[in-house]
Amino acid sequence: MWANISFSKKMDVRLSKPVITFTFDDAPVSAFINGGNILSKFGFGGTFYISLSLMTGPDPETRFTSTHLKNAVAHHSELGCHTYGHTDLSQTTAAKGIADIEHNQKVLQTLLPGMEFKNFSYPFGAETRPVKKYASKRFRSARGIEEGINLDGTDLCNLKTVKLYESKYPLDYIFGKISEAEKNNGWLIFYTHDVDEKYTDWGCSPAYFEAVVHECAKRGITVATINEALNLIENSTHES
Ligand SMILES: [Zn+2]
Repeated sequence: MWANISFSKKMDVRLSKPVITFTFDDAPVSAFINGGNILSKFGFGGTFYISLSLMTGPDPETRFTSTHLKNAVAHHSELGCHTYGHTDLSQTTAAKGIADIEHNQKVLQTLLPGMEFKNFSYPFGAETRPVKKYASKRFRSARGIEEGINLDGTDLCNLKTVKLYESKYPLDYIFGKISEAEKNNGWLIFYTHDVDEKYTDWGCSPAYFEAVVHECAKRGITVATINEALNLIENSTHES
């Protein structure tokens, strides 16, 4: 495992009520259209960790446009960083990996001047010690793919997540995770890729996605982007 490799940046999560964040990696155009619209319908926003090389890539599924990015931001969503080339950081040198992340940041600024990625997620969940260390300084947080709810002693450079992969996790299982977050006043970060009728093994249908968002709304849970959730956690830790 690349995770838990001798470098971490610990943060205590001491919330008076649970917080849930919806995140999308890459992100396929269906995440912006269906995922983003469903969140908006409930007055929520999410975090889209994007690899900007996919914007003009060959796959029509991932070919989002700068309009999708602008709309996401206009609807209270956050754009997060996921390397430019969707680079597997464990398969390249640290220098090249870091340069690829910086390139993503630079291209974003040409597309949306003044905009900056504040949070990061590792493509394939692949971490290396030097990149983790770099991410700890360059970003407020970095999300991995290890399953779990973020509680006390959370590693800010390897935030845990629960996958919204419809073919693998029935809604009952997901609702159970929401209950677990409620019980512990934890920070639950969901993650998926496509939100499409013809979903991949790494995605889900709009109906499945909406059922999860609806469940959060029904239970009165705070839904926030990664950046907003970090603000909430920082504020509540200072109060206590
Ligand atoms: Zn990815």
